[in-house]
Amino acid sequence: MYTTMAPMLLQAKQEGKGVPAFNIHALEVVPMMARTAAEKNCPVILQVSVSTAKYIGFHLLSTVVRESAAALNIPVALHLDHASKLEDISAAIEGGFSSVMYDGSQLPLDENISRTQEAVKLARGADVSIEAELGIVGRGKIVESYPYTDPEDAVRFVAETGVDALAVGIGTHHGQYKAKTNINLDVLKAIHEKVSTPLVLHGGTGVREEDVRICVRLGMHKLNFGTELNVSWVRAAKEVFGAAEPDESLRELMIRCNNAMADTIRKKIDLVRF
Ligand SMILES: [Zn+2]
Repeated sequence: MYTTMAPMLLQAKQEGKGVPAFNIHALEVVPMMARTAAEKNCPVILQVSVSTAKYIGFHLLSTVVRESAAALNIPVALHLDHASKLEDISAAIEGGFSSVMYDGSQLPLDENISRTQEAVKLARGADVSIEAELGIVGRGKIVESYPYTDPEDAVRFVAETGVDALAVGIGTHHGQYKAKTNINLDVLKAIHEKVSTPLVLHGGTGVREEDVRICVRLGMHKLNFGTELNVSWVRAAKEVFGAAEPDESLRELMIRCNNAMADTIRKKIDLVRF
């Protein structure tokens, strides 16, 4: 069934489990993602960047996710990832998304809090869940000295915004699949001791499997996996399309690429539902 994110995360917290969030890059993968999670009886968050949401169309995407979820016995949420403009949050809410992320992590703390408060107001008014970010999740190159989230700032942030989930900087990076990151578990532990709001792991692909499980135990109940799914689809596509005759069924070729992504999805589900 199609649902919001907040109750999924609260239940996962009670059970000591994680909810995987998988990035959609194209409409074609949506039914496969929902069905694969249902096969594993795993609640799932399907999420998109603002660019992908605009590429597909907010309403078309939410309709496909809603219809894909309707026949399944698992909760499925559709989440807008890393929106830094309130107008994109509004577009997602109006377009039928059940969850949004406002990312003010580039702003000074006070401004991040006040802009997040505005985003929370928009989400609450429409019964949509909301995630925010405090601290920096890297992109690309691994940096050694890292602007980790300050645990005291996290306490203030959740108290003043009331978000449903908080992304924190513990040294993870987006887009990383060739090497694994050394995350700072001491920072996560300190945040977990002071903050009861479910935390979010961004850049999950670049985190060692054993570390992902520790993150779940330390309060991260939404775990984002994007890059590795994309890599598995594209790797399969290189092989499948590279060897295909031009008159072969596009459907059959795409199913083989989708199957490769589904294998990765199953592995990620096993990782967070232990
Ligand atoms: Zn992210």
